[in-house]
Amino acid sequence: MTREFDDDAVVLRTYKSGEADRVVVSWTRAHGKVRAIAKGARKTSSAMAGTLEVLAWVHASFVATRGELFVVRHARHLARLTTLRGDYERINAGYAVVEVLDALPSEGVSDEALYELTTRVLGALDDARYDPTLVPASFYLRLLAHDGSAPVLDACVNCGRADPLVAFDAHVGGVLCDRCRSGRPLSAPALALLRRLTGGSLGAVLAGAPPEGAGEVATLVRDALEEHVGRRLRVERASAPRAGDAR
Ligand SMILES: [Zn+2]
Repeated sequence: MTREFDDDAVVLRTYKSGEADRVVVSWTRAHGKVRAIAKGARKTSSAMAGTLEVLAWVHASFVATRGELFVVRHARHLARLTTLRGDYERINAGYAVVEVLDALPSEGVSDEALYELTTRVLGALDDARYDPTLVPASFYLRLLAHDGSAPVLDACVNCGRADPLVAFDAHVGGVLCDRCRSGRPLSAPALALLRRLTGGSLGAVLAGAPPEGAGEVATLVRDALEEHVGRRLRVERASAPRAGDAR
């Protein structure tokens, strides 16, 4: 990585450092996940105090230090996201998205597609036409597809039968028929909704009140995502296997 660069970024997490500083973890367009210290950011006089908050979408200057952290010099909002910030449910949905990005073991690995996906999600959460309930699930499904781990939804993942599909098993990686069933039960509306969420018409799915099966889908997709992120984390930590990981 170059010693100094400017980049667009979405803030995933912040934490206190020392007396007045703040460490800012963000997902940048061209440099992947970056951990940077914002000096003096917790002083009320600091211009960065109100800029580098979780879910902020910013343009910032980063400078390398001798340690692991970069220093963030300047930051300005690329969009204010006032609709998102004014609504508790939208903020929570946003948090559910950025906490997953924060959990990915990908520091310094450039992934512009994931940056673009994240900014589209922020845009959807900031759009009053869209209900926020299914936004995290739609993000998780796209993240899974991006990583080549999209759940199988068109036929039983075990035997290939197309009907009746009655269960979803995140560990097996998709839907299951009545003979092969494992994992969680799956209702017909939830299956239909899963298919719509992975199809093209996302705007239509998110517009208006959450459709039937939305709560079920949110749970199933969260399972699939946790399974996937856990696997990614285990791959990362393969040098230190734990007994519980063998299955
Ligand atoms: Zn089957």
